[in-house]
Amino acid sequence: MNTRQFILSPKEAYEAAQKWRVVKRSVDARQRELKVHLTVLADDEGKPIPIHNSQFTINNSPDGDRFPLYTPPVYKDVHEAERKAIIIGCGPAGLFAALTLLEHGIKPIIYERGKEVSERKKDIALLNRNEGLNPESNYCFGEGGAGTFSDGKLFSRSKKRGNMQRVMEIFHYFGAPDTVLYEAHAHIGSDKLPGIIKRMRECIIEHGGEIHFETCVTSLKEVESRKTATLKDKSQFQTPIILAIGHSAHDTYQMLAAEGVAMETKGFAMGVRIEHPQELINRLMYHLGKPHLTSPQGRSTPLEGEMEGVIKYIGNASYSLVTQVDGRGVYSFCMCPGGHIVPAGSAEGMCVVNGMSASHRNSPYANSGMVVQINPEDIAGNDPLKGLEFQEALERLAYEQSAISHQPSAAPAQRMKDFVEGRASKDLPKCSYLPGIVPSRLDQWLPAGIGKRLQQGFRDFDKKYPGFLTNDAVIVGVESRSSSPVRIIRDPETLQSINTPGLYPCGEGAGYAGGITSSALDGINAALKIVQQ
Ligand SMILES: Cc1cc2nc3c(=O)[nH]c(=O)nc-3n(C[C@H](O)[C@H](O)[C@H](O)COP(=O)(O)OP(=O)(O)OC[C@H]3O[C@@H](n4cnc5c(N)ncnc54)[C@H](O)[C@@H]3O)c2cc1C
Repeated sequence: MNTRQFILSPKEAYEAAQKWRVVKRSVDARQRELKVHLTVLADDEGKPIPIHNSQFTINNSPDGDRFPLYTPPVYKDVHEAERKAIIIGCGPAGLFAALTLLEHGIKPIIYERGKEVSERKKDIALLNRNEGLNPESNYCFGEGGAGTFSDGKLFSRSKKRGNMQRVMEIFHYFGAPDTVLYEAHAHIGSDKLPGIIKRMRECIIEHGGEIHFETCVTSLKEVESRKTATLKDKSQFQTPIILAIGHSAHDTYQMLAAEGVAMETKGFAMGVRIEHPQELINRLMYHLGKPHLTSPQGRSTPLEGEMEGVIKYIGNASYSLVTQVDGRGVYSFCMCPGGHIVPAGSAEGMCVVNGMSASHRNSPYANSGMVVQINPEDIAGNDPLKGLEFQEALERLAYEQSAISHQPSAAPAQRMKDFVEGRASKDLPKCSYLPGIVPSRLDQWLPAGIGKRLQQGFRDFDKKYPGFLTNDAVIVGVESRSSSPVRIIRDPETLQSINTPGLYPCGEGAGYAGGITSSALDGINAALKIVQQ
């Protein structure tokens, strides 16, 4: 495939993408002048291929598109398949594992504690209206896992763990927009994800796989004995089990510990969500509207036209910030331009927040997690689940802080500058968090290892982007589930648990992935190991 690269202005890149077939696009906002790096398909003489000669279709017919985008997956009928595999958890890891098994003629049998996506939506609506949390059906549990109502940023293109591009292609095959095939920072959006997940489920069932919703697995031995064994291998389990439970099922980790599955504590991160007005983030990141940053002609006000133009062509700005404070990383995580903060807890009496945005990313708010790295040695004790306890303790503390103000379903919050300078916020700015926020002294009750580092981290970020540290921004507690504090130890070759053969821990909950794409890829890899048996 011939390609040609261009460095263009946002407007030129936007127009080029209407004419030519793009294979890679990334925005470079490091300099004052914004640039878009565009790679397009080209013919043998280097001329860009017009889009009408090569539509965005997946086509592997020899008479079809001269430049097929990718080879579509072919799923086999497994209604009568002899080989079966059990999958616990229907998040990205479980779903992509199931689809991979289907490609190889193995019947996937999925157990998912939560509800199917349309029912789950109703529980999420209740949660956002402060009408109660369903501990089995929420932002973490249910069809599609934490990935369904996530932001849907599909980030990592690292080739280290396998073919990330294939994950994008499978998302595209089930209805994700063309941009997931070429954007450096692809994004689907929480309004589009449920439809994609539903189509994946329909495909699995249509081809003979099984999905059992509202079925929480409370014992590995029990779940396995319910199915006819078909594999005569040396496994403890006669039917292989892919364990794709995500990182929020604390009861399931307890069950695994009780059944003797080898686990260890791993490093993770916790902190807060921060929300700025999106307009301010656009100005800072796109270098718009500050006298010393805008133009030699001395334009000093936000350039309305310029701002609108840029947003039209490259969308609302995001950021990725990182610094080191006292030997630990402090960084932004899961930044959601034009998004919302959401209640992401899965148990009563705990307050957990996260962020998402719809496909258009057009809310007036910009939020991101701001977290501090926590190493196993930062927490006392030897229990492999000690990180979970630490997480829960902070989530309970956050809940109690809002309960003090008689608003237990609201989240505790503080204006950013007040937090850094150690004063109470008399009032709070408008915030996208639907259940509501209440003023609280996060500067006082966050553990010093987190709170003090965040304060310094925010000062550091302000040096890089003057204006970032502002009382127009609000911090909301707590962002505690950015990564798993536990690793379910597996053999790097076979991907099976080191002491429970036949069990394939994978995805974010097993501690080998973080985020949608890497979890999906880890699920694919686990399934491929079963295929090779
Ligand atoms: C609000 C929000 C926004 C996010 N935004 C992004 C983003 O933009 N980009 C990104 O890459 N990542 C994002 N993430 C993280 C991403 O969703 C996760 O990394 C990813 O979903 C992990 O995939 P997984 O399959 O390993 O686990 P999960 O998606 O957590 O799925 C695990 C599934 O297992 C089920 N389960 C657990 N225990 C049992 C049991 N005992 N029996 C049966 N079923 C069980 C759960 O109900 C769940 O459905 C976001 C997460 C949230 C909550």
